[in-house]
Amino acid sequence: MPDGAFALARSRVEWIERISPTFARVTFAGPELHDIGGPGPVLDQRIKIVFPPPGGAVPRLPEDDDWWSAWLAVPEEERGSMRTYSIRSLEVGPTATRIVVDFVRHLAAGATGPASLWAEAAAPGDEVLLIGPRRGRPDAGGVEFDPGDAGTVLLAGDETAAPAIARILEDAGPGLRGAAFIEVPHAADALDVEAPAGVDVHWLPRDGAEHGAALIPAVLAHLGSDADAGAREPEGEELVWETPAFPAGDGAAVGAIDVLPADDPLDTGYVWIAGESGVVTTLRRRLVTDLGLPRRRVAFMGYWRRGVAMRA
Ligand SMILES: Cc1cc2nc3c(=O)[nH]c(=O)nc-3n(C[C@H](O)[C@H](O)[C@H](O)COP(=O)(O)OP(=O)(O)OC[C@H]3O[C@@H](n4cnc5c(N)ncnc54)[C@H](O)[C@@H]3O)c2cc1C
Repeated sequence: MPDGAFALARSRVEWIERISPTFARVTFAGPELHDIGGPGPVLDQRIKIVFPPPGGAVPRLPEDDDWWSAWLAVPEEERGSMRTYSIRSLEVGPTATRIVVDFVRHLAAGATGPASLWAEAAAPGDEVLLIGPRRGRPDAGGVEFDPGDAGTVLLAGDETAAPAIARILEDAGPGLRGAAFIEVPHAADALDVEAPAGVDVHWLPRDGAEHGAALIPAVLAHLGSDADAGAREPEGEELVWETPAFPAGDGAAVGAIDVLPADDPLDTGYVWIAGESGVVTTLRRRLVTDLGLPRRRVAFMGYWRRGVAMRA
């Protein structure tokens, strides 16, 4: 029996539904899915999905924690593509486990990629490989939402973060208080979310404006700042990833937290922001540098980068 922290589950599309102009909801099923699931609520649990190469099959990988190197060792033309997604829902039943993923349909020429194209063409029976925490194992990680004892939360993101925000709101418990701001391409992309009564959920249609045009001013206004959003941060290849567990995006899991200030001058509680990396970086600058939010209270996560294809 494999006993690595991660489970690799070959899964088939059971059902696909275009639930709004932007989102395709895919339900994956298959016996191996029963092996996936962290020790606690799903929240913003991330998983990897390996999509088959055009006309080919999903590669076979050894069931151990070296799946990343094993995947890279597969010849490029057989490897397919690996991307990161959130679990919109994990349904564990007595006879079957299903994982639902909401795919953003970004299909414009020059701004699309293998994952989005796969979702657009997907049909029941199509196979992918899902990689996630082995059921009950805490050591695979992949959940960042961690408000600690914060009294309120601020969740903000674009359409790629909408599934994670929705899951957090549905998992965090009825006592959660705060606000969520979700920027989406169109008003019709506002989806049903069962949020706790104490959380105000704001869907912000972008209506053709650039990413961040609606989100940045809304977040700043929520924090009581009348500062101009200012210029977007310069483009780069890397995704910003700065959370209390990974300060300054350097992967250091411990140590730095202790030297960060413990007070919260704006009494903002806990802040979780994800989406296009330039937008997230702009918000990080405004919130941490200009408004003085303590870093131990914020998670800034680039989920994708304008003009950059992800490697995984
Ligand atoms: C932790 C985490 C969780 C995520 N959860 C989800 C999720 O639940 N649902 C989801 O849809 N995405 C999610 N994403 C984002 C997703 O991984 C990226 O959007 C990824 O780039 C999609 O792969 P692709 O093959 O379609 O495009 P890529 O090959 O990676 O990129 C090709 C081109 O498409 C552009 N592009 C990529 N994404 C978008 C977009 N959303 N809108 C416009 N242009 C884009 C790139 O800038 C590039 O120019 C998540 C990312 C992370 C890190």
